[in-house]
Amino acid sequence: MGEAETWPAYLELFEEGRLAELADKFTARLSECDLCPRLCKVNRIGGELGFCRGGERALVASYGPHYGEERPLVGVRGSGTIFFAGCNLGCIFCQNYDISHGLAGKESSPEELSEIMLQLQSIGCHNINLVTPTHFLPQILSALVLAVEGGLRLPLVYNCGGYELAGILREMDGVVDIYMPDFKYWDEEVAESYSQAPDYPRRARDALREMHRQVGDLQVDDGGIARRGIILRHLVMPEGIAGTAEVAEFVAEEISKGTYFNLMDQYYPTYKASQYSQLSRRINRDEWNEALQEARRAGLRRFD
Ligand code: SF4
Repeated sequence: MGEAETWPAYLELFEEGRLAELADKFTARLSECDLCPRLCKVNRIGGELGFCRGGERALVASYGPHYGEERPLVGVRGSGTIFFAGCNLGCIFCQNYDISHGLAGKESSPEELSEIMLQLQSIGCHNINLVTPTHFLPQILSALVLAVEGGLRLPLVYNCGGYELAGILREMDGVVDIYMPDFKYWDEEVAESYSQAPDYPRRARDALREMHRQVGDLQVDDGGIARRGIILRHLVMPEGIAGTAEVAEFVAEEISKGTYFNLMDQYYPTYKASQYSQLSRRINRDEWNEALQEARRAGLRRFD
């Protein structure tokens, strides 16, 4: 755990030839897709689509330097963000629903995706920030091999919804330097109602344990830029439905009190949220203050 001997971490796998092997191994999974907890087992190479609606090729919705992410990612030159279309969650309050559910994206080959990574590096971004990457892991790994051959040396940010298979993450050990998962809910019924994923809480807990085992707490360089570790996001929701107290306690007790915990206040009702009374408004000041206190009471000492 902690600082890898080589940085970014994937260089070691690349030099040993294991990155290309991993890309091939993951690509083979597309013919009976089991990349995430949905375990759809569809043949994506043969044109079938599962819950996420991702096919054989990566769907890139947009890319570019992004200045709205957490400070350790943005620095002065921005985070090199690549937004993928489709998602393995079905959140009815999704703020990017045109991308995640509407599939607004361009099919991209590994060569094209690697060019995007290199372009983001050439304009000075501090990292390659893969947004909603889970369902396109094989394509990302194939592109990464080409990008490293072309000179990529930026760390990868795995920016996901937290609905991951710990076993898949384990196989990827050594690829990602910075994990940035959400931890959306503590309660299974809430996760089922609002994201169609009753197993979300336990999947997110297992994923977080594995991510922390690999990269540990967030480490930054002298300029405050993220080098390695976890940035955890938790969106505070109305009426306490996200289970902020329980999430904070779990993180403090079972992951680390030094976890960089980004408590977010920007929930607003969008997509289908207004159809659900609990979700039809923003949070109020009392709910926000309570969430802050819950994080502090849990013992977390590093949160925004
Ligand atoms: S990545 Fe997509 S197709 Fe594969 S198991 Fe997950 S939701 Fe299903």
